[in-house]
Amino acid sequence: MPSVSRQGQQDLIAQYRDATLRHAKLAGITRPSFRCQRCRKDQGVSGRRQVVRGTSRYGYYCAHCAALAGR
Ligand SMILES: [Zn+2]
Repeated sequence: MPSVSRQGQQDLIAQYRDATLRHAKLAGITRPSFRCQRCRKDQGVSGRRQVVRGTSRYGYYCAHCAALAGR
C-alpha cells in the first residue's frame, strides 16, 4: 500500500505492524509439516509414512501418497 511518508516514525511503526501481522498470519497456517518424498509438497504430518520403515532418514510420504504406494 503506497502511502506518502508523513513521519519516519509512523512509517516504521506501520512497517512493524505490517510485518507482525504477516508473521501472525504465517503462524496461523504453520503446523507440523514435512516434505513428501513422492509429491514433493509440504504436507501435514498426520497419516504420513516413512519411505523406509524404521528410519526417518529417507523422509516420508504424505497420507495420500502412502495410500497410493501401499496398493
Ligand atoms: Zn505426497
